[in-house]
Amino acid sequence: EKTPVTLLGLGVMGTALARAWLTAGHPLTVWNRTPARAASLVAEGGRAADSAAEAVAASELVVVCLLDDASVGEALTGVDLAGKDLVNLTTSTPAQARVRAEWAGGRGARYLDGGIMAVPPMIGVPEAGGYVFYSGSAELFERHRDTLAVPAATTYVGEDAGFAALHDVALLSAMYGMFAGAAHAFALIRREDIDPVAFAPLLADWLAAMAPAVHRTAGQLRSGDYTKDVVSPLAMQVAGTPTFLSTARQQGVSAELLTPYFALMRRRLSEGDGAEDLTGVIDLLAR
Ligand code: NDP
Repeated sequence: EKTPVTLLGLGVMGTALARAWLTAGHPLTVWNRTPARAASLVAEGGRAADSAAEAVAASELVVVCLLDDASVGEALTGVDLAGKDLVNLTTSTPAQARVRAEWAGGRGARYLDGGIMAVPPMIGVPEAGGYVFYSGSAELFERHRDTLAVPAATTYVGEDAGFAALHDVALLSAMYGMFAGAAHAFALIRREDIDPVAFAPLLADWLAAMAPAVHRTAGQLRSGDYTKDVVSPLAMQVAGTPTFLSTARQQGVSAELLTPYFALMRRRLSEGDGAEDLTGVIDLLAR
């Protein structure tokens, strides 16, 4: 017997989650503010509830995947959550997740927050490598672990309900830094006779080769010794920054994506030790 699932929210992500549970044979009850979006899932064997309250009443395990935290509050206003296992996969901030956990607890529900590290086409496709961060009730997580693993792999990151959102936002923030760097790189070659399609694999491979540097950073943060295992000292890297800025100028490219990071490197050098790694920049940010 597969665990029955109730799912609130049939946007692009909610629909992908719903389809994964249906395909795996879980009895599924769905609700969406705009009822028409449930039609195809009903044709595939799901049951559509007329209200959020009716959907919540149908299963002990209630998964929510709505636009934002405000829409979760709106959809669940006045709904009886007593005895429910509420899993909120709506993207939120750590603070919103913590408040939502309190809110759910006050209504007699166990609460687990999730941060989805996948896009909809990766849901139900284990080889795609997507997963979901979970935090909050460990008991709820253990109890529904197998059911939660149906749409995507699971990574539990702690009892603090805000930790899933924090991990999610931290990884996505790093991703934007990477996208910013890639945008600058493409801008540098753009006006030249260099094929971006030939350049892209060089860029992707370089980023992949550099990514494991985060393990060295982590080791330095843990030990507090930022000069441990340094390969490219801060003083050398700061000395190199004029080359980057001049090259940008020569290519007619704005250096606005690079300059904030270079400014932090210079500040750290002026306050600290040139033999350090770039790790000291983190101290300047997290003051
Ligand atoms: P969509 O915009 O496709 O769907 C939004 C859903 O929220 C719809 O079901 C919509 O209902 C519902 N909704 C919005 N406001 C309200 C409200 N006030 N009351 C009730 N329902 C409401 O978004 P996604 O499905 O793509 O995303 C859902 C969540 O998943 C978001 O938090 C998103 O950040 C997260 N996520 C999405 C990813 C993606 O790539 N799509 C990746 C990772 C996370 P209606 O149909 O009536 O408008």
